[in-house]
Amino acid sequence: MSVSPAELQALDIGADPAIAALEVYHLRAGYGRVEVLHGVNLVLPRGSVLALLGPNGAGKTTLLNCASGILRPTSGCVHIAGLHVNDVAPDAFARAGVCSIPEGRGVFPNLTVNENLRVFSHAGNIPYGLVQERAFTRFPRLKDRGGQMAATLSGGERQMLSMSRAFVAEPAVMLLDEISMGLAPLIVAELYDLVGQLAADGIAILLVEQFATLALKVADYAAVMRQGRIDIVGDPDEVADHLSGAYLGEMR
Ligand code: ATP
Repeated sequence: MSVSPAELQALDIGADPAIAALEVYHLRAGYGRVEVLHGVNLVLPRGSVLALLGPNGAGKTTLLNCASGILRPTSGCVHIAGLHVNDVAPDAFARAGVCSIPEGRGVFPNLTVNENLRVFSHAGNIPYGLVQERAFTRFPRLKDRGGQMAATLSGGERQMLSMSRAFVAEPAVMLLDEISMGLAPLIVAELYDLVGQLAADGIAILLVEQFATLALKVADYAAVMRQGRIDIVGDPDEVADHLSGAYLGEMR
């Protein structure tokens, strides 16, 4: 597949819309009068991982905010599993199967690990015991920290707690914003391993990352966003090849 910015908009990934977990079409959004996304097209097929790369300020988080219902687009469409969800409230996005794990903000810092799990249990309407079982099976380390305030967890442990929400909700789509931010390489490798497992379980994952190399390894597709537009979309190897060394260096 040749990776030409003109041809390889996400729409050309080849995903049948009937099986797409998340689609955005001609999406425009911004803050106040400042437009940040200038007509973005992106398709995330079910059960796949799409790595969204791009320099600081490109609009990646803004796109995630539109995909999770936090930010209402000014025009264009967001579809979750084929449903048009532009005008619905963020909790309806969650009910439609979207789980957003925002950069470093997915937990209540002043609650203990167990109390956070209890919140997830209420939010997902899943018995607390089952939530604990799922979280601790995946992250045994959290079990030892049950009574500890989330604020005092290490960065990696906090990210694990934050990602535990995904097992509770069993979402169709996960939006992960820079899960590796500030973490040690071993922890990052562990989290990426988990991303692979979640995708194998059928969860579609949109992964915004600064660690381009790692993200490209775990992804089925990759896209590069620059200045509010998708520049390139395609197979991760091909996208990597088409990124200049300097540009990839910017994001490594
Ligand atoms: P980074 O990799 O640095 O997190 P990004 O690609 O995720 O960047 P965004 O966070 O989406 O980029 O930001 C895109 C642009 O929108 C930036 O110019 C940013 O300053 C601006 N922006 C983001 N959030 C807001 C906000 N709440 N109000 C006003 N401007 C914002």
